[in-house]
Amino acid sequence: MRLDLLVRGGTVADGTGGPLRRADVGVVDGRIVLLPGDSPVVEVERTVDATGAIVAPGFIDVHTHSDAVTLLGAAGHELSRASVRQGVTVEICGNCGISLFPALPERMAPMRRQSEAQFGEQIGIFQSFEDFVRAQRAVPRANHLVSLVGHGTLRAGVIGYADRPGSPDELALMCDLLDRALTAGAAGLSTGLIYTPGTYADTSEVVALATVAARHAKPYVTHLRDEMSRVEEALEEAIAIARLSGAALHVSHHKTAGKHAWGRTARTMPRLAGLRAAGMDVTCDVYPYTAASTSLSAMLPPWANDGGIDALITRLRSPEQRERMRQAIREGVAGWENTVGNGGWDRISVACAPRHRAAEGRTVAEIAVERGSDPLDVAAELLIAERGEVTIISHSMREDDVQRVLTGSFSMIGSDGVPKPGHPHPRWAGTFARVLGRYVRDLGLLTIESAVHKMTGMAAERFGLAGRGVIRDGAHADLVVFDPGLVADGATYTDPLLPPGGVRTVVVAGEIVVADGADTGRHPGKVLST
Ligand SMILES: [Zn+2]
Repeated sequence: MRLDLLVRGGTVADGTGGPLRRADVGVVDGRIVLLPGDSPVVEVERTVDATGAIVAPGFIDVHTHSDAVTLLGAAGHELSRASVRQGVTVEICGNCGISLFPALPERMAPMRRQSEAQFGEQIGIFQSFEDFVRAQRAVPRANHLVSLVGHGTLRAGVIGYADRPGSPDELALMCDLLDRALTAGAAGLSTGLIYTPGTYADTSEVVALATVAARHAKPYVTHLRDEMSRVEEALEEAIAIARLSGAALHVSHHKTAGKHAWGRTARTMPRLAGLRAAGMDVTCDVYPYTAASTSLSAMLPPWANDGGIDALITRLRSPEQRERMRQAIREGVAGWENTVGNGGWDRISVACAPRHRAAEGRTVAEIAVERGSDPLDVAAELLIAERGEVTIISHSMREDDVQRVLTGSFSMIGSDGVPKPGHPHPRWAGTFARVLGRYVRDLGLLTIESAVHKMTGMAAERFGLAGRGVIRDGAHADLVVFDPGLVADGATYTDPLLPPGGVRTVVVAGEIVVADGADTGRHPGKVLST
């Protein structure tokens, strides 16, 4: 027998959740050949010694905002490596209603501005999934990329950024663009119902779109309309959307954040488990941190963002409008999550502000005290100066909630990484190693088999990635070799791209992309169609 690669002497966690077993894993022409221990191999191109290590399918990061990271060129290089160095061989982007396609040609100019604020630099926007794939193909990548269709992008691409319901014609057009993108290979529909313009949609609009996803047997993936004080109502909306549309439901980065919602996973997780027991196809994902990360503009009431970034900046320049925003945060607005009202500016720190590097890593409250001004004025001035392009980290969750979601039998792992230059949340570079180090080894909350299943086979099944997420004969040769005694996240809030420890080798499409923890410079990654 001839092999391109042999991973010898390791213990296999095959991605199904089944028991660990001793086996050697061979690779021929990008596919796996499973070998019982000590089987005779005639000819081997390259051997990886996995003695003492776990050999698992490559990790699938089901929730990223890495849509543009390789398109950033040199500025994105270090960021894009952070994912693959922890063993991620497939990234699923297009989450929270935000993707880089599709759009009607006449809507694309204002969308370019929005995309610049969300992803940085001159990323632009693409008319179709095919155009997105072409742009990605032109730049090298180490691991694979899968994209959902973001509802916010779809809405902006047809209706624009106005706070109004779509007309029947507009809704039909949105359904048509979604249908084309799903036919071409996008993996499902995502919403971000706290973000403009997605938040302007009522339930019936989302039902109509999720019905298209259901027709393709692709999931409805949602960042709920509220993950704070009204998280349970928001979860019921998502359940209703799934029931009415017939789509499978996937709840993104499930959390109950802010002091009014702490502990509520004790109700939401049994609610989801009950639906599953009754035959409903519902799953979720989670990242292993008690801090969230999003745009600074999402800390403002939805009307503040009505009309897009230029309209937001105009409002932020007006003292009267700022006063209205302060009042909205203090008193709340019906149907709005209100992160700051639920926590406070002392829990919000600046993550990425390209023109204000000195502000990065500090809380908005701290900066306000130093300047002797009000936190909302600090936020407003930052947003104006950065043209809307500010990412924040919000320390809003409790550890018991994180653990309850993480240990749920239907939860998979998604970093929710926002890879932008600056001080991004460490979850982008640390999530998978942190689950294996902290929650499996140190706290003993999960077995290796079960954690690996959440990172691989369960994810592949949910997102239609045939032949991935498992180690078996004929599967795609995406693999990770890690040391269970050493694996640990290195990334911190102050140094967010520090690589993990204990991840020895990463293989994508049969090629070694990480060897002894170091980048090999190989780029076999592709955009995958589902
Ligand atoms: Zn989200």
